[in-house]
Amino acid sequence: MQKVYLDNAATTRMHDEVFVAMQPYLTAIYGNPSSIHSFGREARKAVEEAREKTAAALGAEPREIIFTSGATEADNIAIRGVARALQNKGRHLITTAVEHHAVLDACKALEAEGFRVTLLPVDAYGMVSPRDVADAITDETILVSVMMANNEVGTIMPVAEIGQICRERGVIFHTDAVQAIGVLPVNVDELQVDLLSLSAHKFHGPKGVGALYVRKGTKLKVFSFGGAQERKLRPGTENVAGIVGLGRAIELATTDMEAKVSRIKAMRDKLMAGLLAIPDTRLNGHPEKRLPGNVNISVQYVEGESMILSLDLKGIAVSSGSACTSGSLDPSHVLMAMGLDHQTAHGSLRLTLSAYNREEEIDYVLSVMPGIVARLRAMSPVYAGKE
Ligand SMILES: *Cc1c(COP(=O)(O)O)cnc(C)c1O
Repeated sequence: MQKVYLDNAATTRMHDEVFVAMQPYLTAIYGNPSSIHSFGREARKAVEEAREKTAAALGAEPREIIFTSGATEADNIAIRGVARALQNKGRHLITTAVEHHAVLDACKALEAEGFRVTLLPVDAYGMVSPRDVADAITDETILVSVMMANNEVGTIMPVAEIGQICRERGVIFHTDAVQAIGVLPVNVDELQVDLLSLSAHKFHGPKGVGALYVRKGTKLKVFSFGGAQERKLRPGTENVAGIVGLGRAIELATTDMEAKVSRIKAMRDKLMAGLLAIPDTRLNGHPEKRLPGNVNISVQYVEGESMILSLDLKGIAVSSGSACTSGSLDPSHVLMAMGLDHQTAHGSLRLTLSAYNREEEIDYVLSVMPGIVARLRAMSPVYAGKE
């Protein structure tokens, strides 16, 4: 059976060259980067080269890059680190209703500790308004966190404008840029961000490694202890092979980006048009300001989970909402924040492409999808009532 992977917002296939770069650091080169002997120095050199590559990809300086276990940890270090460092200045944080749970739950935990959190609303396209950010900032505000692009509906946020506002008001600005690396230009100065999270496995790197950009001078209070690694912000022996993989992956992801993106976008547009040709479907997210590889649709009178399972039987991997919410019966917090009703939110399907997809795969999906929807609708009491 043909296998088609269209869940690249959840994770991506590792690039072969990334694997090649990592391999020596999983076998022959095994020194601890903190050791001062030659074994250690060899590992240290690899970590620092990866740091330089990561910094170069973001327009940052190497010492502003902290390697982490992924974006969840980077988001936590950023948000909780700023909150603890600046709590005597103020105890107010601003974020959006459509952030990844790493950001939302970190903020929720701070709320329980006495911080006040403003969750900004989004419009019907999942877009946050810079005006709302400006209006929400008070003398107590210490941090604004707005993602670069949404992982569920693909909406690209006006992060540079928000960065400008935060800078003018003297508020630290964090962005979760996980979904943007390799598909959008990400430059920390152009975006005017102070903190930025990324994760290697979202851009064809290994799982379990990420990075946090920390603009020099940004105060973070640590909450993990035990070593001096990563400027004490993330103590513990470095994931050397993973870090090497991240460095190679970000280098590859940001090379020839425009050509890759236009190929992905062409396939995405074909997929999107084909799916929206099915009656009683709608697009979720912004029609233009969206990630090039993202399609998110709602199919009326059908459950997203049923479509996932039917597509899986045909070898096609997609998701509804984010991987974290799959398996729970709650509709996606992103779709709810966009004002969708429960039924429409439950009928949502997310298909996310990468450079590894081929046009034949899109044709295959489009050849099976109408039949799946028709069969599921035929079994739906809601749909029967409509006829
Ligand atoms: C995947 C994802 C994360 C979490 O990254 P991990 O490295 O898997 O912890 C955070 N934010 C966004 C927007 C994501 O898509």
